Amino acid sequence: MPKVNGGDLPILIAGGGIGGLAAAYALARKGFSVRLLEQSDAFREVGAGIQLGPNIFRALEKLGLKDEVLADAHIPPGQEMRDALTGELITEMPLGAEYFAKFGQPYAVTHRADIHAVYLKACQSNNLITLETKRRVADFTESRDDITVRLDDGEDVQGRALIGCDGM
Ligand SMILES: Cc1cc2nc3c(=O)[nH]c(=O)nc-3n(C[C@H](O)[C@H](O)[C@H](O)COP(=O)(O)OP(=O)(O)OC[C@H]3O[C@@H](n4cnc5c(N)ncnc54)[C@H](O)[C@@H]3O)c2cc1C
Repeated sequence: MPKVNGGDLPILIAGGGIGGLAAAYALARKGFSVRLLEQSDAFREVGAGIQLGPNIFRALEKLGLKDEVLADAHIPPGQEMRDALTGELITEMPLGAEYFAKFGQPYAVTHRADIHAVYLKACQSNNLITLETKRRVADFTESRDDITVRLDDGEDVQGRALIGCDGM
């Protein structure tokens, strides 16, 4: 791999949700070392269900994690949209084989904790990724060659780049 700014420093990621873990794993698969800094005391996903469209499955296929995510997901046969007041059917869309034939990937629903767990397990089994909890990113400063992240406990962490995956 060619030497770039930041030398052998890791890429820093702020946030260990679905986005941060997916970014960490994708970078590690390309040979980059990653330090992922999560503010909470544990890696966990809050919330309930999440829809997974064909674009997600294309990305998961590239990461080699499609089968693991599908194992806990449900592929509904169809989707109906109804009037919120009357319940009258407005439109419906088949989501099974017909949908797959059109988009080349499925539409599925899963629990957020399940897809988060797939990414977490993948990251934990990749030795280029360091997962750190209780590490809240408070600030950062950039130089020509690297970036320094200031944690809220005052510690500085150096990296070749910082990716913000801290949610909305
Ligand atoms: C109501 C709702 C429904 C949605 N439904 C869908 C859907 O069906 N399908 C779909 O694809 N998308 C959906 N989305 C969008 C998708 O859920 C989000 O884009 C996705 O979950 C965001 O993941 P994330 O990892 O980027 O952020 P988050 O899940 O918010 O994770 C951010 C992480 O960063 C950590 N963090 C925050 N600040 C710091 C800091 N300073 N230092 C260190 N760590 C920090 C947090 O503790 C957290 O762990 C929905 C969004 C909403 C709001």
